[in-house]
Amino acid sequence: MLKDLELTIENRINSAIDFLIENSFTNINRKLISLEIKKNDSYFMATINNKILVSTDCSNLNKKALIGVLAHELVHMSEYQKSPIKDLLRRFLYNIPFYRTKLERNIDLEVIQRGLGEYLLEFLEYHDKHYKKYNKTDGLTKKEVTKLLQTIIV
Ligand SMILES: [Zn+2]
Repeated sequence: MLKDLELTIENRINSAIDFLIENSFTNINRKLISLEIKKNDSYFMATINNKILVSTDCSNLNKKALIGVLAHELVHMSEYQKSPIKDLLRRFLYNIPFYRTKLERNIDLEVIQRGLGEYLLEFLEYHDKHYKKYNKTDGLTKKEVTKLLQTIIV
């Protein structure tokens, strides 16, 4: 049963990654990406170097929200692929709350700059409805993303 669930999530995530790389992350080397799917309660997704750690809870996300959370992870990965050395330093600094907050908020901002803000918002809406709400120290909030999307003139 769990195996089936993992396979379904894996397929959905792979097609979301294909969509993102084709449209917004042409700088990422797709071949290097690996996934590790397991039951986990502390996060939906996390990225270490070229590996995305995925919680089985992601199976509850709709397609748009899944793309939103993945977009955030792919910005982390794109920073890593750009400069593994700098990324090592970033991971070291990540233990400092002020730095972590700044980094996570900048990552969300880049998601919006890459034209994926509405997907990020969909994820934040799902997350805040079902889990403890994200606040400003975790990244951009639902309110902030909404406001930023309203100020973007297409
Ligand atoms: Zn992050």
